[in-house]
Parts: sequence; C-alpha cells; structure tokens
Amino acid sequence: MAAIRNTPGVLGKVLLLPGDGIGSEVMREVRRVMDWFARRHGLEFELDEGRVGGTSYDHHGTPLTDEVMAKALEADAVLFGAVGGPKYDVLPFEAKPERGLLRLRKEMELFANLRPAKVFDALVDSSSLKPELVRGLDLMILRELTGGVYFGEPRGIETLPDGSRRGVNTQVYTTAEIVRVARVGFELARKRNAKLCSVEKANVMESGVLWREEVQRLHDAEYGDVELTHMYADNCAMQLVRAPKQFDVIVSDNLFGDILSDCAAMLTGSLGMLPSASLGAPDANGKRKAMYEPVHGSAPDIAGTGLANPIAMLQSFSMMLRYSFDQDEAADLLDDAIGRVLAGGLRTADIMQPGKAKVSTSVMGESIIRELDKAA
Ligand code: NAD
Repeated sequence: MAAIRNTPGVLGKVLLLPGDGIGSEVMREVRRVMDWFARRHGLEFELDEGRVGGTSYDHHGTPLTDEVMAKALEADAVLFGAVGGPKYDVLPFEAKPERGLLRLRKEMELFANLRPAKVFDALVDSSSLKPELVRGLDLMILRELTGGVYFGEPRGIETLPDGSRRGVNTQVYTTAEIVRVARVGFELARKRNAKLCSVEKANVMESGVLWREEVQRLHDAEYGDVELTHMYADNCAMQLVRAPKQFDVIVSDNLFGDILSDCAAMLTGSLGMLPSASLGAPDANGKRKAMYEPVHGSAPDIAGTGLANPIAMLQSFSMMLRYSFDQDEAADLLDDAIGRVLAGGLRTADIMQPGKAKVSTSVMGESIIRELDKAA
C-alpha cells in the first residue's frame, strides 16, 4: 500500500472551474478528496473558484470573464469540470460555453495534451479488446495541441478557374514546436517506465522527417536514459489495438495525436473514467501552466440525477498532484483507492456490470475516501 510523506503547508494556487451540468457534481467529489488530503496529510492548496461556460454566460453574458482568465493565468494549476448544454446551442459562436474552454487553452498556451489510458483490473471486461490484451494496461498519449495541420497556413477552400473547388490545409512544424513537446514526452517517460515512442509519417511527409530527426537529436543530447523508438502513425494505430501494452509514453503531433488518443481511450471502456492534462511552457522557475480536466462533457442527459461517474475528475486531480506539484505518493494513494473501490464491486451506472452494486456520484466519492482512510 502506498505511503505518503507528510508535506505540510500550502503547495500552490489552484483555480477550480466546475462549469456546467455534471461538471459541478464531479468537482464536489474532488473538493471532498482535497479536504481529506489537507486534513490527513497537511497537503493544502490556496483555492479559488470561478465560473466558466454556460453558468458564466448566465451571470456575466460571456463564457469566460477577463477576471477569471486572469486568475487562471496566475494559478499554478486549473481544475476544470465540463461546459455546455442544449440551452446554449442557440447562442452565437463567440458566446457558446465551449469558447470559454478554448480561450483558457489558448491564453494559457497549453501546447501539450496528456491523455492516459489506464485499465483498472476490475474493469478489464469493459474494454472492447480481449481482457488479456488490456489487463494492467497503463499508457500515456502525449499530443501536440497548438500546431500542425489544424492551424497551419495556407488553409481554406478556393474555387478553381474551371469552377471546381480545392480544400487546403498545411501540416507545419518548427524545431521549437517539436522540441518543446518532445521534452515533455521525455520528462513524462522519466516519471514512468522510461520508454518513449515518437509517432509520425516520416515515410511520406517532410514534417514527419523533421519531427523524427529533432526528437532523436534531443534524445541523444539530453535523454539518453530514456529508451526512444520511432513508429509510423498507421502502424501505431494498428499496434494500439493489437498489443497496447508494448507502449509507455507515445508522443505525436496534433492530428495523429487526436486520433491515437481517442483510439487508446476506448481501450479502457468508459468516458467517465478518462482524465486529461494540458501543459504549457515552463517559466523561469521551471513551473508550467497547467489545466486538468476529464475528457467527458457536461452530460446534460444525466445532470442533476446523481448518476455521474466522478472518477475521471478525481483522476484529473490525481494528475494535478503528480504533474503540477510532484506529489506522486499522494497521487498513487488516490489511484490505488479508486482501484480498490472498483475491485470491491461498486459501480456508477455508466460502468455497471452484472452482479455489482450500483452507486451514486456521492456514494462513489465517499467510498473512495473510506478507502483512503484505510490506507492512511
Ligand atoms: P458528454 O461527454 O457530455 O456525454 C456523452 C455521454 O456519456 C452521455 O450519455 C453522458 O451521460 C455520458 N457521460 C459523460 N460523462 C459521464 C460521466 N462522468 N459519468 C457517467 N456518464 C457520463 O458528451 P455530449 O453529450 O456529446 O455533450 C454534452 C455537452 O457537453 C455539449 O454541450 C458538448 O458541447 C459539451 N462537451 C464539453 C466538453 C468539455 O467541457 N470539455 C467535452 C465534450 C462535450
């Protein structure tokens, strides 16, 4: 069982942005777990809370106020719930709840998106793959988030002289963009099993050739202790569903990372179990801007019913402990407690299986805290 060093004192500033729908319901469970860590281990944060998304629009006429944006830029980490809902579908583009999230990502310059795919033993049957392929799976997909073909110029749709049309997007990466995300990949690998697989299409794309050369160069100069391999993106997609346990950390560009992270997510079964982190560049003190959020949305179909699974949000908090505050032991403690609650047979509705006990959001949260108590 994981032990934890006592680390009394305030670790840093955390901004909570629960958002809409189940966002606030799952954030409530994080608050309780945060209280537990403060009470039992003296692990405290300077907490602030703000509105984002539809709730911000309702109160302030905008999905994100400048004041909340400024707080996010000042915080050591932002914990984000979810935004959106059918009520806001009619709003103009700029007022939509999702614009609040996009503004946070843009102004915090979060260029590295981390999506772990971890399969808890108790849930091996929820995966679409055979249990033996995913039992014990624990991999991390690192996606470059602010460059590549989604942003490259020129772009657009043009009409040609013969009246037909042509759509153009440009895949473009610079050395600096590649090196900064690769560096995150090597650092992540060092915190895990010291294996990094870099993914591109160097066989058919010049930007892929550059990607491969720059990642290799960085490895040779600074990260010789990490085992680096290179793989073409199409092969990686195949390997993820053939033998996913061969991977530790995968780093890829915006487009391939988008596809591969969704593919890896489904290895684990449920949307309610998937956390994520987005990181920015380190400042002079080596501290990165960071935002942690579940992959799921505001789930308006179940909001207010107590059916939401809080585990993706709790694991996002666990990632925050690990990657923003270097509290690996606390993160392990929480991850282990979640694993034991699932092994004990408790399930929220989204991960319900025959013969297991169906519980609400808050009972799931309480049960995780009870397991934390046992381990403390
Ligand atoms: P969704 O992720 O909200 O829900 C998809 C399905 O999964 C729903 O049936 C929902 O009940 C279920 N689900 C999601 N999270 C769950 C959880 N924690 N526990 C149990 N069940 C869960 O996606 P959607 O329905 O396509 O979108 C709903 C709203 O959320 C939209 O307004 C969309 O724009 C927004 N959205 C926001 C984010 C975000 O804030 N990051 C991400 C995706 C969608």
